[in-house]
Amino acid sequence: MRQTRHGQSWRAGLARPAYYKVQREAGASSASFTVSPYARAGQTLYNAPPNSANSERPTLSQTAPSAASAAAPISAEVVVIGAGPCGLFQVFELGLLGISAHVVDSLKHPGGQCAELYPDKPIYDIPAIPVCGAQELVDRLLQQIKPFKAELHLGHEVTEFARRDDGRFHLATAGGLIFDAGAVVIAAGLGSFQPRRIGVEGAEVFEGGPIQYRVKSAAELAGKRLVIFGGGDSALDWTLELLPRAASLDLVHRRKEFRAAPASVSRMREQVAAGRMRLFEGVPQSLIVNDGTVRGVNVKSPDGALHALDAEQLLVFFGLHPKLGPIADWGLALEKRALRVDTEKFQTSLPGVFAVGDINTYPGKKKLILSGFHEAALAAFGIQHHLYPQKKQFLQYTTTSPVMHQRLGVPD
Ligand SMILES: Cc1cc2nc3c(=O)[nH]c(=O)nc-3n(C[C@H](O)[C@H](O)[C@H](O)COP(=O)(O)OP(=O)(O)OC[C@H]3O[C@@H](n4cnc5c(N)ncnc54)[C@H](O)[C@@H]3O)c2cc1C
Repeated sequence: MRQTRHGQSWRAGLARPAYYKVQREAGASSASFTVSPYARAGQTLYNAPPNSANSERPTLSQTAPSAASAAAPISAEVVVIGAGPCGLFQVFELGLLGISAHVVDSLKHPGGQCAELYPDKPIYDIPAIPVCGAQELVDRLLQQIKPFKAELHLGHEVTEFARRDDGRFHLATAGGLIFDAGAVVIAAGLGSFQPRRIGVEGAEVFEGGPIQYRVKSAAELAGKRLVIFGGGDSALDWTLELLPRAASLDLVHRRKEFRAAPASVSRMREQVAAGRMRLFEGVPQSLIVNDGTVRGVNVKSPDGALHALDAEQLLVFFGLHPKLGPIADWGLALEKRALRVDTEKFQTSLPGVFAVGDINTYPGKKKLILSGFHEAALAAFGIQHHLYPQKKQFLQYTTTSPVMHQRLGVPD
């Protein structure tokens, strides 16, 4: 039986976590707002249209970050790159030691692979939890780190990294956020998630223009002839959202079955039956370009037939895949495209820069969530020593330590 994220027995007893503070990608440089970790249903929060079927989804702004955000560096004890399970647990382990963290992730929701690649699947090897949904794990981690009030900067890819002369670290995101950090934890997993491209010859020239992998502005698409590719929630949600205002809309999916929410699929089929849009089974074959302008796309159906679809704008929702990206160029020692670390502190080749989870490698490394959790615990002590070398380190039990209780906000 396929397990769905909502209403499963493994959720029983888990209190709905309170809302978490995240920094908005765009427009509001200093504004923060709350977003429910439950808001994300399935795999489509990434650029989900406003007012789409799932009313719990937050509407994250899609506009460019303001200049103001670029101007003011955020001073941080620690910056954690990656809000996957290991990055989130790193916040917890740092918090227990009284160290605060900012977390940055290129995705617009926390949870890394768990949330992006297999949110509905059950995980069976998290210690003491016989079965745990992948998204449930993320929700539980968010709940667990709540006392430490980490700020999550979502929708920001860290692209720049440098060690400053004073030993602190400069980090910058593609969206213009700048951090001044005492230490850095790279918990970047398999890399930052990038959209799967359309994969037809000559497409690069038009990407960001007539070929888009996300909707930057729904208003700009009004009155246009659209072709949407994909069979998941993003493709279906945007189809239903844009249809009333598009001049024409064709949806193309490589097979008959859709991965999107059944209700959205039914609504889309009703629109097709009513003649308001067309549905094609097939894959993009080539662009139709005239005088340097995209005029449409040829779609090849499973029987080999070609359909020339008239379009000004192609919207491609083939999902996301992780790419190591800029981290490979930061001068840190790499081995098989992973960051080499020691097994005492999980520090990289650069003191003050630590790496936990799938991104690191060492003899015997296993890319498992529980390995990353262990690494985060030891890295936290390494980070504490890096930041405060004079400080004596104590191992304190959360069960009995009044200091831990105070940090966790629980009674003695
Ligand atoms: C289908 C599937 C099933 C699995 N099942 C299990 C299982 O049963 N048990 C188990 O232990 N493991 C399982 N795994 C593996 C597990 O998901 C990974 O080990 C785990 O997600 C690693 O966590 P992480 O925090 O290190 O990285 P990730 O989960 O990959 O998260 C890394 C985050 O870093 C972000 N990032 C990367 N680069 C940047 C950048 N430059 N700027 C900003 N953000 C960046 C990414 O967007 C991502 O959100 C499974 C994996 C898959 C794909």
